[in-house]
Amino acid sequence: MILADLHLHTTKSDGRLTPTELVRLAVRRGLEVIAITDHDSTEGLEEAFEASKAYPNLSIIPGIELSTDIPGNEVHLLGYFIDYKNENFQVILKNFRDGRKYRSKKMVEKLAAMGVNISWDRVNELSNGGAIGRPHIAQAMLEKGYIKLPQEAFEGYLERNGPAYVEREKHTPSEAVQMIRSVGGIAVMAHPMEVDNRENLLPELCNAGLGGIEVFYGYYTDKQVKYLVQLSKKWNLIPCGGSDYHALGTPGEPEPGQVGPPMQSVEALLKLAPATKL
Ligand code: AMP
Ligand code: ZN
Ligand code: FE
Ligand code: FE
Repeated sequence: MILADLHLHTTKSDGRLTPTELVRLAVRRGLEVIAITDHDSTEGLEEAFEASKAYPNLSIIPGIELSTDIPGNEVHLLGYFIDYKNENFQVILKNFRDGRKYRSKKMVEKLAAMGVNISWDRVNELSNGGAIGRPHIAQAMLEKGYIKLPQEAFEGYLERNGPAYVEREKHTPSEAVQMIRSVGGIAVMAHPMEVDNRENLLPELCNAGLGGIEVFYGYYTDKQVKYLVQLSKKWNLIPCGGSDYHALGTPGEPEPGQVGPPMQSVEALLKLAPATKL
């Protein structure tokens, strides 16, 4: 039985459930520990903590997901037990979200040049004041009938090497690890199978203080999980994971609690964040 899901998104980034809705769904699905990990935003946390007061059996880890681009790859870093009230941290996150606005405008322009005409105002509206991401652009394309499923916006348009992709402002994965650590958080490499050169990156990231790596994720096969468990042992990283749920409603999307780490991993995270009580 999976009791922990440490990778979940809300409407404060590109998820479709509000923090309150997500908390209620997590409870319905029998989860006892969740981490809310919106892209470049912690704005869902207060609402989630408030909503969770009605459910004493549910604990919430304050989290974040930061994206970085490196040549040839995109690397996402999760942060757990972050002191999200830190003012400087919030200033940086706000800058990242402003960068996402600008970047989404450029992607809309690139799409227009390809004959895909969506309005940025609509993209902005769909983001509902949260961190704008490619899924909002995908949604606007879907509404206009250019595609039938959100993932089709990635294939041929918005994927990393796609013609309408725009990189974000440069910061390295190590900088993201440091940023998470600067607010007392534990940095975890997200969905490592999506990072082709993960094994070359690990020495540098571990040096920067990486604390964990996602192992139990999405539809990773038993073989992949086994390999990642070995990798986590080799580098002394806590094996983490979760559904990366966005409530996109696409066929086959993993539900909260469908995949996640064992409670020993949550306990190991807690040991590294001794100031925090769940
Ligand atoms: P962004 O933050 O704008 O770079 O967008 C990244 C988000 O887009 C990820 O967190 C996923 O939610 C989503 N995404 C990335 N690649 C794909 C894909 N191939 N199909 C569907 N969604 C994707
Ligand atoms: Zn996302
Ligand atoms: Fe991610
Ligand atoms: Fe994610």
